[in-house]
Amino acid sequence: MLNSKIINWYEFNKRDLPWRNTTNPYNIWISEIMLQQTQVVTVIDYYHRFINSFPTIKDLALASEQDVLNHWQGLGYYSRARNLHQAAKFIVDNYNGVFPNSFDNILKLKGIGVYTASAIAAFAFGLSKAAVDGNVYRVLSRLFGVYELTNSPKGKKTFQLLADELMANAEPHIYNQAIIEFGALQCTAKKPMCEDCPLQAQCFAYLNKEQNSLPTKKKKIKLTNRYFYYLYIFSEEHFLLQQRGDGDIWRKMFEFPLIEANNRIELVDLIHTETWRSLFVDVKIEVKDQLATKVHKLSHQNLHIEFISVKVDRDSMNKFSSFICIDKEKAINFPLPKPIESYLARA
Ligand code: SF4
Repeated sequence: MLNSKIINWYEFNKRDLPWRNTTNPYNIWISEIMLQQTQVVTVIDYYHRFINSFPTIKDLALASEQDVLNHWQGLGYYSRARNLHQAAKFIVDNYNGVFPNSFDNILKLKGIGVYTASAIAAFAFGLSKAAVDGNVYRVLSRLFGVYELTNSPKGKKTFQLLADELMANAEPHIYNQAIIEFGALQCTAKKPMCEDCPLQAQCFAYLNKEQNSLPTKKKKIKLTNRYFYYLYIFSEEHFLLQQRGDGDIWRKMFEFPLIEANNRIELVDLIHTETWRSLFVDVKIEVKDQLATKVHKLSHQNLHIEFISVKVDRDSMNKFSSFICIDKEKAINFPLPKPIESYLARA
């Protein structure tokens, strides 16, 4: 059985951590909240100080918020401490200071999500709940070759089912500790120690050399801001267009002459840019108006678009040889990005 291999590994390799030697749900709760986003070695001292100062739920509930925050100083994410404090008061008010022993009631406490509720339910009360944290996602995805995104709702469901199946009849408090520790020490994110791993023979990632591809996670898209200054250069019913290239957004579509910048530029500065000057060599112009549109959002870009309407005389239109001069009525024949189309509808 795979789970007994993981449990055997745990018995030989586990670290002696203070919150492992207790089934007190309060102590386990404090340790789990501290361990979110913080390394084990850092947490140990904080944990001892916190438990010494607030040995019970009642002590925590009666403490001042400032005192609780002082004990958290250096751990960061102060909302975690505030939530702990509020949940302690809730337990005192609603459960007479006794930590709830059902998964559903634990999950209702402020600041406790599915993983933490499962961990407390299993470690403190022996409830049959598989706790799935980042370590467990990693082990399961590599072991069984699961490529589903660990941060998608579908992926979460799949991994929870797998974790429940793998736990099977094992003792929940031992199994959960074991697989979490296995992920933290053996099947690590970088350079997992496959050569002396007891699961090697059954491990999909090892057998297929896929350790570095698993687990998969949806990457956060980095949004870029771009600043577009479109020049609506017109004379009577004619205006200028140009075709976009094919290496960027709106491939091959048509747009007004464009000055793009990395940040916002005032018109007084824009007219001194090289692009503006080179556009209007020997051309008499009259800047009519300037219109800023709402930010145009694309999947990974925010376009801050402004239109500047520039009137020139009819003869000067011939001087813009690198642009197409079209009749306004013919604009419909050109594929135009939405913001240009909307602007023309109003112009
Ligand atoms: S063989 Fe490597 S990738 Fe597979 S479970 Fe073991 S440590 Fe993780």
